[in-house]
Amino acid sequence: MTLDRVSFASEMSKLFAAHGREVRHETMDTYWDAIEQLTLEQLQHAVKRSVENDEAFPKIPKLLTYAREIKVKREVSPFYSFFCKGCESFFSVIIDQLSGGGSFECSSCKEYRGITVRWSTRQLSEARQRAIDDGKDFAEV
Ligand SMILES: [Zn+2]
Repeated sequence: MTLDRVSFASEMSKLFAAHGREVRHETMDTYWDAIEQLTLEQLQHAVKRSVENDEAFPKIPKLLTYAREIKVKREVSPFYSFFCKGCESFFSVIIDQLSGGGSFECSSCKEYRGITVRWSTRQLSEARQRAIDDGKDFAEV
């Protein structure tokens, strides 16, 4: 999840509390600039690790190191596979390209095959979500 300022402040408050310090807004602002890029999950992990391990209030590089122990899920670009009547094999098209409809090159025979579908934004996002839920790079039609 993308980090927002409210969740950030709530996580930072835990750090201040754990180290017996008053919440300081100057510190918050400085940390926010560096930490904004993290996900909420990464910050939560970093705060937990710091609370458990650090004797002193953590500096920014330390928090970033903890945060990066959590790998950000990669953005998947699922494909849809189509059957090529020319060479009788399946070939894949990146889902995003389907919004335009038209023709796509079969990766086996390199012939262009017309595909009559023109996918709506909703169909595209549903297809992508299905592929992500299935943990696949490829989604079958
Ligand atoms: Zn083909």
